[in-house]
Amino acid sequence: MFPELAQELADLETQALRRRLQVVEEVLPGGKVRVKSQVLLNLSSNDYLGLAQDPRLIAGAQAAAARWGVGAGASRLVVGHLGLHEEVETELAAFKGVEAAVIFSTGYMANVGVIAALMGPGDLIFSDRLNHASIMDGIKLSGASLQRFPHRDLNRLEKLLQQAPAGKRRLLITDSVFSVDGDLAPLRELVELKERYGLWLMIDEAHATGVLGPGGAGLAQELGLTDRVDIHMGTFSKALGSLGGYVAGARRLIDYLHNRARSFIYSTALPPPVLGAIRAALEVVREEPERRSKLLEESAKFRLGLQDAGFDTLGSETQIVPVLVGKNESTLQFAGALRERGLMAVGLRPPTVPPGKARVRFSLSAAHGSEDLDAALKTIVETGRAMGLAR
Ligand SMILES: *Cc1c(COP(=O)(O)O)cnc(C)c1O
Repeated sequence: MFPELAQELADLETQALRRRLQVVEEVLPGGKVRVKSQVLLNLSSNDYLGLAQDPRLIAGAQAAAARWGVGAGASRLVVGHLGLHEEVETELAAFKGVEAAVIFSTGYMANVGVIAALMGPGDLIFSDRLNHASIMDGIKLSGASLQRFPHRDLNRLEKLLQQAPAGKRRLLITDSVFSVDGDLAPLRELVELKERYGLWLMIDEAHATGVLGPGGAGLAQELGLTDRVDIHMGTFSKALGSLGGYVAGARRLIDYLHNRARSFIYSTALPPPVLGAIRAALEVVREEPERRSKLLEESAKFRLGLQDAGFDTLGSETQIVPVLVGKNESTLQFAGALRERGLMAVGLRPPTVPPGKARVRFSLSAAHGSEDLDAALKTIVETGRAMGLAR
């Protein structure tokens, strides 16, 4: 069956682009996992605050299941909007410092839903070249015309804005922390452009929620720009340790999404245990700012160590620290060598990154012990040196 698929898979194999699932046999404390009987320091997780195994989140999920059950029973607009959804969305809006918020089942669904709800054929969407795949899919689904600008290139963006035909609905979208480079959007400048050219600005805070900002709300909060961003999107699936996506902003925006976002309307409401975990995570983020400060301090130390050894960490400024390798094969080789020495770091290849920019990406977590990170750094430098990637 499927002979044509066999050929495509074989082609992927020859380009070192074939992907395979691997089983995590056990999740261990300290940000470690067991895979094929080997214990590895997990430097590939998005569980940045180490909350996925936190007893308070587990208790929150259990309590919510005991009170409300394990399923919402229907989509939100039918009869799946439980008191728990209402409460968590109210708390979330306060956490984000905006009027209102709506929760989707995943961040992917939030992006697809909000973009396709707001934009349509004939409209224009200005999108950073490195924006997340779910943003790209939302743009495709919307039917709007895509105006893609090179990564963080404000001059090119402004040229596109100047050339854009008047009288169309226009939306500018950016990740706030970019998932493959670990760098930050030039948010201040983007806000200025948005105001000068009179378009909407949407930011995806998937990697910043729980990590940046005095209250952990993200980059907009960190820079004091919350009120000047129209659409705040983010997830509970990364630093907040469980699952779900959100859109936050003006009450009117959220009311509109209830009516027009198809991934919200035609999908079952998020189940109570997840909401219980989200709620507990929001509380931890509020009450334990030291988790995010520790994470960012350890990340800076780790990044500097790599840079001192001569690695190119691209523009990383966050807990996401890539090491540029270039070729797909060498990237896999590097990741494989690290794995043999007890480090789990996944190689990123095209189409996730541009051709020739394959890399190994390290994601740090507050769950990692300082000594484990120091040892990991040493291993990475030694391995990189042996491969001619470091001094
Ligand atoms: C992970 C991610 C998403 C998707 O979120 P999920 O909750 O995993 O579906 C969206 N945007 C960005 C930038 C992400 O990194």
